[in-house]
Amino acid sequence: MTRIVYVNGRYLPYGEAGVHVEDRGFQFADSIYEVCEIYGGRLVDEARHMERLERSLGELAIPMPMSRAALGQIMRQIVRRNRVATGLLYLQVSRGSAPRDFSIPAGGLKPTLVCLARGLDGDKREARANAGISVSTMPDIRWGRCDIKTVMLLPAVLAKNEAARDGSYEAWLVDAEGFVTEGASSNAWIVDKTGTLVTRPTGNAILPGVTRRTLLDLLIRENVPYSERPFHVDEARHAREAFITSASGTVMPVVAIDGAPVGNGHPGQLTLRLRSKFHQAAKLSS
Ligand code: PMP
Repeated sequence: MTRIVYVNGRYLPYGEAGVHVEDRGFQFADSIYEVCEIYGGRLVDEARHMERLERSLGELAIPMPMSRAALGQIMRQIVRRNRVATGLLYLQVSRGSAPRDFSIPAGGLKPTLVCLARGLDGDKREARANAGISVSTMPDIRWGRCDIKTVMLLPAVLAKNEAARDGSYEAWLVDAEGFVTEGASSNAWIVDKTGTLVTRPTGNAILPGVTRRTLLDLLIRENVPYSERPFHVDEARHAREAFITSASGTVMPVVAIDGAPVGNGHPGQLTLRLRSKFHQAAKLSS
């Protein structure tokens, strides 16, 4: 359970923490976030999350609320104060609060900073990985800058809920040409007919996942062939293996796409091997 939340310089009890009613994050989704895995009480790939946060903020010309080092201290405090060993840390930076106006006030605002941590049921996640998940494909109706990690998540919320109605855990979003862009809250991967791992290249169409990046490091280390190229839904349906990556699930096997089994309908061998080695490639905070 989340007990202590950081908001704008204060550590507050969960029930008492809040932001201004005219926060631009609330009114315009004018806000950036990060989700970082907590593993053994340590933050996973903190530096890469900080880099992505800084880049996302930079694309919207929102200033960093403080130095990376100071942010890192708050993040670690929040993990510690909430005694989270296995879970997720959530960090959000909005442009700040001001009377509602589409124009961004000249001179800028003081960014709003929120940080909280929550425990996850690690056994449940392992059980999910051992069984594998189903995904449902649907049109990608998001905007043209999916590389920026904004809280403008309504298309992802709707997609995941539609997937859940089909009995799927995740939605795979598909572009106008029939190529998979990514999951609603994950990056999408397949193992193609030649045994090569395939994932879409970074660019405006997808979020550059931190887990994706660290997995690429692992593939290089393990000499696993991979290709960063778009893959079509039809290719995915005939893939040997499939999986998704995200901070919340690391490497999560996909065993069915739109109700049809992937490979033999069980989590792939290569996928499970990469899952078991993932944290060896990741950097854990002290
Ligand atoms: N794509 C989208 C759209 C996401 O929301 C996420 C998770 N935040 C990811 C990919 C995976 O990114 P990461 O590995 O950094 O969690």
